[in-house]
Amino acid sequence: MTSEVAPNLARLRHRIADAAQAANRPADDITLVAVSKTQPLEKIREAAAAGQTHFGENYLQEALDKIQALDEHNLTWHFIGPLQSNKTRDIAAYFDWVHSVDRLKIARRLSDQRPDDLPPLNLCLQVNISNEPSKSGVSVQACADLATEIAKLPRLRLRGLMAIPAWSESEAEQRKPFAQLRQLHAELCASGLELDTLSMGMSDDLEAAILEGASIIRIGTAIFGSRTETQ
Ligand SMILES: *Cc1c(COP(=O)(O)O)cnc(C)c1O
Repeated sequence: MTSEVAPNLARLRHRIADAAQAANRPADDITLVAVSKTQPLEKIREAAAAGQTHFGENYLQEALDKIQALDEHNLTWHFIGPLQSNKTRDIAAYFDWVHSVDRLKIARRLSDQRPDDLPPLNLCLQVNISNEPSKSGVSVQACADLATEIAKLPRLRLRGLMAIPAWSESEAEQRKPFAQLRQLHAELCASGLELDTLSMGMSDDLEAAILEGASIIRIGTAIFGSRTETQ
């Protein structure tokens, strides 16, 4: 069976270009992170062969196996999954970006554990933008204080904000939480933080995210097909 990865990526690049045009933005302002959690190495190799360089993973052990196996491809790895203290050492050593930080304690550990021979670890704060009790992410109210503290940590580079809004069907509804995240980002920049990243938008809402200024979109299903979530 031939895989759908390369044609899916081509279709997705058209979607991104169309959305960027509708938003009056250059398409290359938007970085595509291919979310490869639960997907086999072979599909990542196919995406890499089709020119994809940024990949996102949620589960540390699975990610470490892939990063080591694909070392010669020089890919850029983004950790986007749940963070616990006992995982920070490996994340600091093997990833280029972390999108899911929502506590100072975790950020301190990542900064302390970032190896000296690597550049500072790029970091986004995850914001619980829809204020859902069950979801991770710092609250909108606590975001500015946390960002200010994290920006002081020497081995991190705070780049911006990430969010996974509550699901909604229409593009108009999808845009609202993304617009809120953009507003929060603008407030942090106005307060003196130098941020350049809004990590928002997945397979079902990337158009709305791009219209609201997403600079990184994180796309799994539209590239690799559906997942069997076993973890
Ligand atoms: C799984 C995941 C994605 C990708 O979701 P799709 O709907 O498959 O595009 C993006 N971001 C995070 C944080 C994820 O966990």
